[in-house]
Amino acid sequence: MNKEIYVFELHPREYGFSKSKKGWEKKFPPLSRKSQFKYTFRADKSMISVYRQRAKQMHVDCHAYKREYARNNTYRKKFMEKHPPIAGRYRCWYCGKRCRNITVDHIYPVKQVQTDERLQRKLKRKGIRNVNDEKNLAFCCEKCNKKKGKTIGNYPRKAAFGKHEMYWVLVGIVRIFIILIVIGLCLCFLKPNTAVGQFLVDLFRKIKIS
Ligand SMILES: [Zn+2]
Repeated sequence: MNKEIYVFELHPREYGFSKSKKGWEKKFPPLSRKSQFKYTFRADKSMISVYRQRAKQMHVDCHAYKREYARNNTYRKKFMEKHPPIAGRYRCWYCGKRCRNITVDHIYPVKQVQTDERLQRKLKRKGIRNVNDEKNLAFCCEKCNKKKGKTIGNYPRKAAFGKHEMYWVLVGIVRIFIILIVIGLCLCFLKPNTAVGQFLVDLFRKIKIS
C-alpha cells in the first residue's frame, strides 16, 4: 500500500466533546502534533478510513487530507511579492476593480480540493501541484470574495483572463465603444432629421406596429 503524509483534523468542540474526556487521544496515534486537534502522519488510505470510522463512533467530526493539500502560511506573501501593486493599487482578477487592500483567493477552494479526489486529479492535469500553487491563486476584492464564497463556477476562466493587465485595457476600450454607440443612437433619435436618425425612427415604428 502506498503511504502518504496526511493531515488529520479533529473538530471535537463542535460536538461538545471536551479535551478532558479520557482516552480520545489514544485512538488516533499521531506521529506529530501540529496543534491541539491537528496531526500529521504517514498512512495509507485504508488507515484514514479506520480513523474516520473511530471518530464517527466517538461522535467527533474529523477532516483528513493529504499534506500537499494543506493551506500554508506563506502563499499570500509570496504571491504579493511576485505581483507588486501598480501605483499602489492591486487589480481584482475577477471584476477588474483596483483597490489598495486585496485578498489572495484560492481559485479552487482549499476545503473542496482536500475532500474531492476528482478535483485533485483535475488540478494535477492543469499542472497545479497543491492548493497554494501560484496557478491556484488570484487577487480578489472583498466584494468578489464574498460573492464567490466556496464556489468554483466560472472563476478559473475569469482569473485566467483577469491576470493580464492588457485584458482590462481591452475591456475598458470595449466599454467606451459601447457607451459611444449608445450616445450616438440616442442622438440619432433626438435628431431624426439626419439619414441615420430617420432610418432608426422608421425601424422603431415598424417594430412597434408588428
Ligand atoms: Zn472584484
